[in-house]
Amino acid sequence: MNKTALVTGGAGFIGSHLCDRLLSEGMQVICVDNFITGNRENVSHLLTNKNFRLIEADVSQPTEKYLSNIPRVDEIFHLASPASPRGYQDAPVETYLVNSIGTHYLLLFAKKAGAKFLFASTSEVYGDPEKHPQREDYWGNVNPHGVRACYDESKRFGEMATMVFFRQFGMDVRMVRIFNTYGPRMDPRDGRVIPNFLTQALSGKPVTVYGDGSQTRSFCYVSDMVDGILRAMQLPKTKGLVVNIGNPDEYTMLTLAKKIKQALGSSSRIIFRNLPEDDPTRRKPDISRAKRVLGWSPKVTLDEGLVPTIAYFKKQLQHS
Ligand code: NAD
Ligand code: UDP
Repeated sequence: MNKTALVTGGAGFIGSHLCDRLLSEGMQVICVDNFITGNRENVSHLLTNKNFRLIEADVSQPTEKYLSNIPRVDEIFHLASPASPRGYQDAPVETYLVNSIGTHYLLLFAKKAGAKFLFASTSEVYGDPEKHPQREDYWGNVNPHGVRACYDESKRFGEMATMVFFRQFGMDVRMVRIFNTYGPRMDPRDGRVIPNFLTQALSGKPVTVYGDGSQTRSFCYVSDMVDGILRAMQLPKTKGLVVNIGNPDEYTMLTLAKKIKQALGSSSRIIFRNLPEDDPTRRKPDISRAKRVLGWSPKVTLDEGLVPTIAYFKKQLQHS
């Protein structure tokens, strides 16, 4: 019998690509989403697939409320959480609940089901990092009561809970620290930098660089991300481990703005706006562990990944 994967947040950007990939590998997929930031369109093409099941539920609730009729689950990918600064600052309580109590309930379910578990953590656990690039053994520099704390601190809590179930019960768990990821199915309105720059440059509006644009990020294309997540779940030696998954190619936001304008042949002006509170200055993953343990490194360059992303955003703008 085929293995069954449970993907929380499976109707979101990364989650929906993960569902596609798991189905293409012959797995049964149960996607749980409450659509707080996700989009039905992301999984509409899967609804007729007999190996796919969509459950609309809030995973911050006990799993008995929405998983009582599930016969078997082999792998749990816990991706549910608002992910963009706008998304989590608009829903701070929902965000800290899904990463804390939501993770706890799903770990209890995994324990009972004897399932493997993966927690989708984030580069935000490093806060505004004092070490560069960021390695997994760096503990980070997070403001515990700032505007990003509902996300950063709850992801840190989620990692802690995952490790407690590993140590206390010997469970087969792992954590991936996801660095900035982009690609088709990103929400054009979620306020993240690539959706903002693309929608602005495509519609001839000014491109808004925050601060002086010298802050950096490193962008991973979604197919590379899904590949890393799958390897982290499926390869041996990942039990009890946290692994950075991201593309180490680092760009300033001003360079990114120019790159996107150039890729689109856009004549939009670049304008400067206030830097948001606690905006990390630099971010770049050290992926030595992913290379060593997962045999993984990203394959898609930013120039290559922008091509399908731009095509998706053009289509979205036509339909809006
Ligand atoms: P997304 O917002 O597109 O997807 C998250 C999904 O989770 C959405 O479909 C949302 O509706 C769902 N969700 C949220 N709370 C829920 C709840 N309580 N119950 C059920 N469903 C719920 O975001 P994404 O970019 O695909 O991010 C997926 C995961 O990866 C998140 O855990 C995020 O923290 C992590 N991550 C993403 C990035 C990135 O650059 N995209 C970076 C770091 C970490
Ligand atoms: N940013 C920007 N202009 C925008 C949106 C974001 O200059 O219109 C900057 C933001 O200040 C941050 C970087 O781009 O330094 C990445 O922001 P994003 O919200 O995508 O994700 P973050 O990595 O901060 O979670």
